[in-house]
Order: sequence, then C-alpha cells, then structure tokens
Amino acid sequence: MNSVAITGAAIGDAVPAAVIRLLEVLWASGHAAYVVGGSLRDTVLGRRAEDWDLATDALPEETLGVFPDAAYENKFGTVAVRRDHVEYEITTFRTDHEYADFRRPHRVEFGVSLAADLARRDFTVNAMAWGAQPGDAPALHDPFGGAADVTARLLRAVGEPRLRFEEDALRMLRAVRLATTLDFSIEAATLAAISASAPLAAHLSGERVATELGKILAADRPSVGFRLLAETGLLEAVLPELAAQAGVPQNKIPGEDLWDHTLRTVDAAANNPIVRLAALLHDVGKPATQADGHFYGHETEGAEQARALLERLHEPRIVTERVTHLVRQHMFRYEPGWTDSAVRRFIGKVGREAIDELFALRAADNEGSGVDRDADGLSELRARVAAELAEGPVLDRSALAIDGDDLIAELGMAPGPALGKLLDALLQRVIDDPSLNDAPTLLLLARDLAAADRAER
Ligand code: ATP
Ligand code: MG
Repeated sequence: MNSVAITGAAIGDAVPAAVIRLLEVLWASGHAAYVVGGSLRDTVLGRRAEDWDLATDALPEETLGVFPDAAYENKFGTVAVRRDHVEYEITTFRTDHEYADFRRPHRVEFGVSLAADLARRDFTVNAMAWGAQPGDAPALHDPFGGAADVTARLLRAVGEPRLRFEEDALRMLRAVRLATTLDFSIEAATLAAISASAPLAAHLSGERVATELGKILAADRPSVGFRLLAETGLLEAVLPELAAQAGVPQNKIPGEDLWDHTLRTVDAAANNPIVRLAALLHDVGKPATQADGHFYGHETEGAEQARALLERLHEPRIVTERVTHLVRQHMFRYEPGWTDSAVRRFIGKVGREAIDELFALRAADNEGSGVDRDADGLSELRARVAAELAEGPVLDRSALAIDGDDLIAELGMAPGPALGKLLDALLQRVIDDPSLNDAPTLLLLARDLAAADRAER
C-alpha cells in the first residue's frame, strides 16, 4: 500500500463535507473544533480515512445544545451525532488523571486546552489536530512532530514512553497493532520502553486485549504483529500459551519451529476472524503434549487450552465454541477410500455450519507446513462433501424426523441422557441410510434400540 504524506491545506480537501459542516456549526457557535485521531493520521498518510473524530472546547452539554439530535455517550465526554447514517464522535478536550491500575483513567477533566488534549494521546501520529478557534482559518496543529513521523512511518510515544505505558499498558498493544496495520516501525526508544514494561500488559482486561488482537489478526500479515508481540515480551504477558511455542521443534519446514508454523498458518488463513483465530490456536496444545517428536492428542488438549484462552479474552460464547470446535477437529485424515456414508458421518461430526471454516483452516495449515494448500486430498474431500450437501442428507439431530418429545410421547421414555444417546444412535443410522428418516420408521428403530439397550444391561 503506497501512500504519501500530505499536510496543511490539502487536508481540508480530504475531510468529508459532512465533517466540515459539523466543524462550521461549532465554530459559528463560538467553539474551537478540530478533527483529531486516527482519521486525521490516515488522511495525512494519504489513506482513505474512516471514523472521523472531532474534539472541541464545548462541554458535552454545550455540544448537545448545538446539535439537539445528538446523544451523550459516556462519562469521558463523548457526544455522538448521526449524519446520513454515519456516526461522528465529538469529544470535549480533556486530560486524564490517575492511572493507578495501568488500565484506565480514574478521572477525566474537561474543558482544558487543545494542547493538553493532544498531549494525553498515545503516539505522535495520533496527536495531531486539524481545525481552528472561532474566527481563525483551519490549520494543522502538530505539536509533537506527528506529520514528520507519518512520513518516516514511525510510531513514537508522546512524552516519556515508560510513563505513558505505565499509565495505560494498552498503548503497548496499540503500538504493535498500529505498526502491523499501517506498516509502520516502532521508534527505538518507544520499542525499548515496550520491552521494559511488557509485563504490565498482563493486568489488562480481556476485552481490551481481544480488540487489539482482532485488529492484528485482520491485517494483511498478522505474523508481523505477532513477531513484535513475541520479541517485546507482550506475548508472554497476554498469551503465554502461544509464547510457549517458540523453540518447540517441528519437522515441517527445515529450520522452523512450532511458532514459525503457527505464524505461517495465520498468514495463510482466509481473512475471516473465526478462521484466523482458529489458525492462531490450532496447535496451542502441542507444547504440553510433545513426546518423542510426536504430539499425540494435541487437538484435544489444544481445544481445552483454546477455550480457556478465549474465555479469558471474554470472546462471545459462540465465537469460543466455534473456534474450540475447529481446533478439536483440525486433525481429520481423509482417505480416497472413504465410502459415501463415511463422508456423511464426517459432515455430521464437524457440523455443516463449521465445515467450510474447517477446510479453510486445513488449507492454511497445509500452506503453513510447506505443502500444497490442497494436500491430503483436501480438494477431493471438499467436492465429495459438496456433493453430499447438494443431496440434502440428514446431518444433525435437528434434521431427524422425530425428536425427544416424540420418543417420550410415543414410547413412554423418560427424559435424560439415555434419550440423547438414543437420538444419536438414530442419527448414525440415518446418516448411513437417509431413506430411514421418516417418523414411523424411526419410532420402530428407536423401540428396538431401546429394547436392545435394556437387554445389554
Ligand atoms: P483506528 O484507525 O483503528 O480507529 P485510532 O488511532 O483512531 O485507530 P481509536 O481507538 O479510534 O484509535 O482512538 C482514537 C484516538 O484516541 C487515537 O488516535 C488516539 O489519539 C487516542 N487514543 C485512543 N486510545 C488511546 C490510549 N489508550 N491512550 C492514549 N490515547 C488514546
Ligand atoms: Mg479511530
């Protein structure tokens, strides 16, 4: 992605008309108002910007007075205004105080100067403002040399890096995330301070870590970010399970270890958040299971570790379930000799909804192992699964012609685990022979299976 730095007047041309109108209304009401943050950084970089943020000396109530349709968002002084289905955030100048727990400001102070507002921001490229006081012509305000750092593609902390990272350890993860997504380097003193303060990141809330990880995973090459996390010690602080992969031998690509394999797999994975997370975690169980050059059962161990890790990050439960499931299932071994019912059982086990993601994960795992993406008969299995799905076979309990209630009503069975086992047994029969899937047939089969089960006990 090639881009050039632009300054001054050219910024005005790049700011959307709707944003200029918001600024003009604030100026006309006697308030200073500026474009700030990532959208200004991206504009100076010559990139298309999104999420335009404004800063003003108007107090939140005053901003609400100027824009009667606006909504007060939070105690940090942010007011949201919608124009043409786009939301803009207008935040009162502020300073942050007392970061006693390395996490969040305990108290914010409003109505301070633009200079103070820019000084609290994390990196020089994020600490510029374009706008004006009422009556002045809009201009770029760049007290920390952010535009020069944009040109040099450098992330440099505003002020003393160690102090800034002690105030809020998330800034270290933001540095790595921004370096990855913007293709910037981290300036030497800032990088050294990250390495020194990295352990503080262990105090961060799961949600804040997850947001930054998600953005790194969505980059063109997430490995750039994960290598930086590992080199600085941040990985050890936030994802120690993955830090344990370094130095674990793998006989895949000569000279590369398990961590190299994981990173190649992540880079090779389709840019979909579930598949990328699964790629990152697919071999997380290997360090704990390695013995004699093998990793027996690493997918079971890995699924457990992945679940604990994702729960720690407070990922939504369905995300945790799906990613854990993919890790658990990623070791499937296809043979061309599989019968059609073996293919259907495979679909039943993986679940129709997860199968494309599992194939995407295997393709990435193959590439990460230095072999063809379609190795191990993957394209043949894909085609056979597609053919089975086109036939519309029964694949899970919900597609059976009867359910637990029918068994209770028709056969007088009691609710409980035995009922579930019986339904699974019926499902296996139907997967092998889809013509069995009608209600009377299944009821007779269920009665026979239940009788056989009783006889066994
Ligand atoms: P993106 O392009 O991903 O939105 P961004 O830099 O705009 O990146 P935001 O989270 O939208 O990130 O934050 C907006 C601005 O607020 C930043 O540019 C920065 O000036 C400031 N900021 C955000 N988080 C912090 C932080 N933890 N410490 C200091 N300043 C921050
Ligand atoms: Mg932003």
